Amino acid sequence: MKTLKFGGTSVGKPERMRHIARLITQDPDPKIVVLSALSGTTNSLVEIGENLFKKEIEKAGKLIQDLVDHYISFINELYTDERSRESASNAINEHFNFMKGLLSSFFNKRLNNELLAQGELMSTKLFSFYLEEQGIHSRLISALDYMYIDEDKEPDIAFINEKLSGILDQNKGAGIFITQGYICRNHEGEIDNLQRGGSDYTATLIGAAIDAPEVQIWTDIDGMHNNDPRIVEKTYAISNLSFNEASELAYFGAKILHPSSIWPAQKYNIPVRLKNTMQPDAYGTFISDIEEEKKIKAVAAKDGITAIKIKSSRMLMAYGFLRKIFQIFENYRTPIDMISTSEVAVSLTIDDATNLKSIMDDLEDFGEVVVDDNQTIICIVGNKIVEKEEILQKVFRAMENVPVRMISYGGSRYNISILVDTKFKNETLKELNKHIFDI
Ligand code: ASP
Ligand code: MG
Repeated sequence: MKTLKFGGTSVGKPERMRHIARLITQDPDPKIVVLSALSGTTNSLVEIGENLFKKEIEKAGKLIQDLVDHYISFINELYTDERSRESASNAINEHFNFMKGLLSSFFNKRLNNELLAQGELMSTKLFSFYLEEQGIHSRLISALDYMYIDEDKEPDIAFINEKLSGILDQNKGAGIFITQGYICRNHEGEIDNLQRGGSDYTATLIGAAIDAPEVQIWTDIDGMHNNDPRIVEKTYAISNLSFNEASELAYFGAKILHPSSIWPAQKYNIPVRLKNTMQPDAYGTFISDIEEEKKIKAVAAKDGITAIKIKSSRMLMAYGFLRKIFQIFENYRTPIDMISTSEVAVSLTIDDATNLKSIMDDLEDFGEVVVDDNQTIICIVGNKIVEKEEILQKVFRAMENVPVRMISYGGSRYNISILVDTKFKNETLKELNKHIFDI
């Protein structure tokens, strides 16, 4: 059974929703359809939550009312018959009543997670009612019944498989299953989520769990591009990517995919196809275990990076120094992305600066600590690119006029990473486009 995921813009307008109903019924194959919230909804829910935490009740109430208005007009436009409108309105009202109830409750993290889940719960209901109105047989299954994460927020595929297979078996013959992306339960059984953009992750987790022949991620662009199309003028969609290339790109800033979404597909060897809802016949990007020749496939950029340098003469000829440094990051559960060392100093980067102050305090026991924020990792990706010398030359040529803060080469065969101040990001991406892709 194929898994198809449709993002927020693909369901964000009534005509888009009708369009995907047509798309999923073009062939009679059984499928699981994963939906995001209507575009903009999760952002609003985040904002409502922030206001509730700040006890800005009036502001939160106003934002909820804006959402109510939006959903009322969506419902009016989506359905043609009055009965569907009424069923959909009743279903959506339950969610809004829950949200309004929050205005007079003691708000906490658990309720916030429940609030954030409302978007996907509503979009899947609206879509199910629409399919029903159109006489299309489908079954809505709740991700809260099978999508679980453990204490470390890691999903357990064997467990998901067991739960989901049970649900699918009970509903044999349904043909089309509709389910929510992004939302899940945590180890305490409470409603939680797979982080922003997590519907992609839901889709590949499902694909891996049920051994799907393919996972399709339907979005509003024609695939993964060789460079950031919002910054660089001439970019193109990449037809084929290996899992290794795709996961580097997803992690290092290609916004089209959730950073964790590739590993389940790679581990269980489930191909992932990125497709454009607006141009369903376009090839898109096909991600599989096939590794092509050595060439640069794409450049991506990840902002919000903090670089930390620890300089210490005690590092000279000493062993165990790096372990002690890394231990500090581990203590604060802060992952390190790039590292570069010299004999007396080590520079590294983090993207989660929540515990920066404490980390710095602890690092200061080891030497002088310098922090640079507003950094960007520029990541150059391609199968075995580090084995081809002229590639590095091209990269250096492109970087001629850009101050480089750090560079990481050879850590992986698929990736060269360069750290620059974010103010040089656009220029770097444009220069790399010219020198690497000759366009
Ligand atoms: N609705 C969620 C978000 O906006 C999840 C997703 O769209 O993938 O982050
Ligand atoms: Mg997304």
